[in-house]
Formats: sequence, structure tokens, C-alpha cells
Amino acid sequence: MLSLHDHTVRGKLVVRNIGLILSGDLGNPILNGDCIVCIDGKIHSVGYEKDLDVEQPDTLVDAHGTTVAPGLIDSHVHPVIGDWTPRQNQFGWVDSFMNGGVTTMISAGEVHLPGRPKDIIGLKAMAVTAQRAFSNFRPGGVKVHAGAPVIEKGMVEQDFKDLADAGVKLLGEVGLGGVKQGDEAKKMVAWARKYGIQSTIHTGGPSIPGSGLIDADIVLEADADIIGHINGGHTALPLSEIRCLCESCTRGIEIVHNGNELAALFAMRTAFELNQPERVILGTDSPAGSGVQPLGILRMISLMSSFGEIASEIAFCFATGNTARMRDLDCGLIEPGKVADLIIMDRAQHSAGQTILESVRMGDLPGISMVIIDGLIRCGRSRNTPPADTLAEIIKQRQTP
Ligand SMILES: [Zn+2]
Repeated sequence: MLSLHDHTVRGKLVVRNIGLILSGDLGNPILNGDCIVCIDGKIHSVGYEKDLDVEQPDTLVDAHGTTVAPGLIDSHVHPVIGDWTPRQNQFGWVDSFMNGGVTTMISAGEVHLPGRPKDIIGLKAMAVTAQRAFSNFRPGGVKVHAGAPVIEKGMVEQDFKDLADAGVKLLGEVGLGGVKQGDEAKKMVAWARKYGIQSTIHTGGPSIPGSGLIDADIVLEADADIIGHINGGHTALPLSEIRCLCESCTRGIEIVHNGNELAALFAMRTAFELNQPERVILGTDSPAGSGVQPLGILRMISLMSSFGEIASEIAFCFATGNTARMRDLDCGLIEPGKVADLIIMDRAQHSAGQTILESVRMGDLPGISMVIIDGLIRCGRSRNTPPADTLAEIIKQRQTP
């Protein structure tokens, strides 16, 4: 399991007076209840306040009738180090995403490091460094699962064992390095899987000068766990090949913000036609040439719901429970035992939609009024979303020493 849960978090958090609880679970996207109790950074109980033990909280939050959802997961980011990205020369981008409701990120490779090593010992050392650095430092409290090496020609099984032994749990996008042939990628993806390392493959045309085309035949032969940006990053495969990918395997259908929107909607609709919406997961694929999008996951949820014509509570599952299951994460669901990563939000002021669900279905973004990671409040009213109609309020907060 990928876990960066902060086990040092102690205490009881009660969120009361919730108007709507989105579970993150496609099978049951809206929960009954008005209260969530979290203990030591994990969700302890969910239901009606009258039925729960809400006595003596260390932190008490009044949601004032607004909506709680699991923290959002960005399945596809390209971090480098700390809260800096050289791609667009920005500082503080991860913290900005937290203000967009993102509490967990999955690295698809630290590919933007200036002078990125491509020799085998160098790429292994860099992966271990990134894994350690982001385990020890969380910008804005966001859990960045990083240390995702880009595989190169000449790697042998022992290299994957060494990486796994050193704590590496992800591969960067297959195809961004020298390994672009299906048979070669298949061998290395299988070694990675053997040692418990998850894999993602670049799908579609080259992203930036220096990367290459990966077509449907290569994606299917490589058989990575996630069909990375099935809608291209940015250049998509022909829609017929996207359909073929959805039909011919059961791997994750990852749809990203910095991809082709037409292909994004086509991939989502195909997943529904196949009756496999549980495979759909969302990412931004940022920082990238297209930029850095703090509200990218919210924008994808809104795009899927409005243009894709699906209920917004379903679209939220693509960025929470679906990703957590496909990525083997301990978050993404409002459920006892899961990590207490929560966002509190409401309909944006002056949205034409009367409720938060209706507003997202109509293409608007929600307004976030609080982000909680591991049971700790990381921000109040978001500095990036449109302002929420009604804000959550901290009633009581124990001073942390
Ligand atoms: Zn890519």
C-alpha cells in the first residue's frame, strides 16, 4: 500500500452540521449522516451526531450545512523537489493545489529535474532521493508519493529489486525514457510488479520535444497498471485506439487535465459503455507545458459531470475512491479506518445551480472552505476557488505545542 499517513497526529476531530456527505465510493456516492468523527488522523465514525460519540473534541468544526468529500487525489503529477517546479518556474504550486482540494498526489516521474540523470545508477539514486524527500517534507501538508524512476534501456531485474528494497513504490511514465518498445517495456513492468512497484505508461504523442509516441499496441503489450493520460499528454491517440485500450484490458483509465478534452470525454463514455466506470481516475499531468493548475482536479470533475452528462457525485468518485483503489491508497473514501483527508465545500457564490451538485453538473466549480489532511486543518477558505456560499467554521481548536 502507498501510505504517507502522519502517525504523529493525535487527538479528536469532530465535523458536525454537515449538509451532504460525498463518500467517494461509486457504489454508494452519498452517505446518510451529518457528522464525521476522526481520531488520531483517521476516520473513526460517520453518521448522525445524535448517534455518535462527539464528546470532548480537540478540534470542532461546524460545516454549517455544507458538503464534505474525501480529499482529492491527483493521479498524475510531475514534481521535482520541495514546492518548486522548474517547468514553469513556480514556487508553492503544491500548496496551491491543496487550496484546490488536492490532499494526495502521485508522481508520474520527476522528469523536469534540470540535468535529470539517465544512467541507471543515477536514475535509481534520484528515485530514492525523491521518495525520501517527499516522505519527509509535505508542501501544504499534501502527501506527494514520489520517487518514480523513468526506466531506461539496460535495466535488469536486480535494479527493480534494489529500487523496491530502497522504498521505491512507483515507476515514472514508461515511454518517457529510452524504453519505448512494447516487448522491452513489458519485461520491465513485470519486474516492477513482481517487487510491488506500481506502473504507469505514457499514452499518445510526444509531450514535449524529446519524448515520443506510444500507441495502443505498445500500451497493451507493456501492460502497466495505469493507462497514463489515455486522453494524451497533450496529443491523444485516435479515438478508435482509445476505445481499443478500454476494451482490451482492465487497467486504470487515467484522464488528465493537460490532455485532449474530446478524448477525455470519449474515454469516460467508453468506460460507462463497458460498464466499468470504476476504472476512471483523474490527474492533471502538471506541471507541464500547459502549465500548473491548482484547480485542475475540480475542473476535471466539473468537465466530466457537465459535458459528460453524469451526476456530479459520481464524478467526485473518479478523483477519490476510484484512484485510491487503483493506486492502493489508504485515503479517498469517507469510511471508518480511512485516513482523515477531507474537504469542506459549498456551491460557489452566484452559481446558477441551486445546490453544490447542481452547480458542478452545470459546469461551475465548488467553493472550498476547509481542507483537512490526516485530521489536521491545513487551510480555511481556499485562496484559489471561487468563494463558497457558506463557509465551515472552526468552533474549537486545541493549540498544538
Ligand atoms: Zn506523459
